[in-house]
Amino acid sequence: MSGSPVIVRFAPSPTGELHVGNARAALLNFLFGRKNAGKFMLRMDDTDDERSTAEYAAGIEADLAWLCLRHDIFARQSDRLAAYEAAAEKLKAAGRLYPAYESAAELDRRRKRQLARGLPPVYDRAALKLTADERAALDAEGRKPHWRFKLDHEHTNFEDLIQGHVEVDGASLSDPVLIREDGRFLYTLPSIVDDIDFAITHVIRGADHITNTGVQIQIIRALGAVPPVFAHYSLLNGPDGKPLSKRNDAAQYSLRALREAGFEPMALNSLLARLGTPDAVEASLSLDELAAHFDISRLGRADIRFDPADLARINAACLHLMSYADAKPRLAALSCDLGEAFWEAVKPNLALFAEAADWARVVEGPVAPVIDDMGFASAAAAALPPEPWGPETWGLWTDAVKAATGAKGKALFMPLRLALTALPHGPELKNLLPLIGRKRAEARLSGLTA
Ligand code: GLU
Repeated sequence: MSGSPVIVRFAPSPTGELHVGNARAALLNFLFGRKNAGKFMLRMDDTDDERSTAEYAAGIEADLAWLCLRHDIFARQSDRLAAYEAAAEKLKAAGRLYPAYESAAELDRRRKRQLARGLPPVYDRAALKLTADERAALDAEGRKPHWRFKLDHEHTNFEDLIQGHVEVDGASLSDPVLIREDGRFLYTLPSIVDDIDFAITHVIRGADHITNTGVQIQIIRALGAVPPVFAHYSLLNGPDGKPLSKRNDAAQYSLRALREAGFEPMALNSLLARLGTPDAVEASLSLDELAAHFDISRLGRADIRFDPADLARINAACLHLMSYADAKPRLAALSCDLGEAFWEAVKPNLALFAEAADWARVVEGPVAPVIDDMGFASAAAAALPPEPWGPETWGLWTDAVKAATGAKGKALFMPLRLALTALPHGPELKNLLPLIGRKRAEARLSGLTA
């Protein structure tokens, strides 16, 4: 392993939409690859042709593009069936892949009997005891076998970058089925063959795969290859600790839903890069920056929670970091590019980017002013300084209004804000006032919609 260039992979099955947990899988692999000057592979695990669709695959690519997690290598398992066939033949020739003819119902009956006797429900390898004649007879009957990998009954050890030393006892597991009776490959063998053929150096995936890893290491070795390094991160659950995939409200955690809700992809990346580590989540607008600070060994073993409130907080923080140069094309797309001073004035108040358009409407009008005390508003209008206006105008003006009316503090500022913007909150008026300009300010203070 040492010396070979790092290659990692994200291997979703295109059988549904990606959710934040999948995004984390992609991101952790991407950051590990970037940090180690390696390559990032996108692999579609689409051997299940009943559930995989081209639409879901396209959706996955769109989601990853939105997150800016660009891949260097791409493969689709449905294009590589010949390689899996060849590996299966190799295992058969080595006596490690054997046909089994039990029906699902028969296996279920045996499992129940074992459980009733207090035995672990492990496959009893009855098929291994079939003679060649018995097999030939079953084949002649038209029975189609599924194919199981014969596990060595020994302990498989590996050093996991997150979990530490892991040991899986082969004797406690059923021989895994690699090929179904209809000839279709289950997940395990294609994944292993691809990891070998694409020289994957690090397999970074959820802790739900730890036992599989024990099995997979045996198969990798049976194919004459060297296992990659493994890292199993803890799973990301919803805010209540329930798994994301098993939720009634799962759709709200899909990347499509978060994109449509207007969240910044870098807010999600910033959050997911640090969740489950002892380090504070910090907004960042750069994947390189996230990668530079990424350390896989900081990930802990406890399950973690995704809280949309955290995403909202980091989203706002990302907007506060955004330069006008980056914001400009997006403001233009929303028809609200009122210049750099506008962006700088409103960005501290944004929870979502699109809200910039609301503030542009406040600046440009028409705004129907909210005025409680017309006398006060007229005095304020009369005290407006002549243009040009700049950042000092607000201070000069409010001093003059205070001198003229005696109002101070909230009693001074709130009526001015309500008259100028019709809202009780918003960006600092010091910054907004020069953008509103004298003409509109005077009109609004006179009670006119402007
Ligand atoms: N397609 C598999 C999954 O989504 C990939 C697991 C792996 O990373 O090996 O669970």
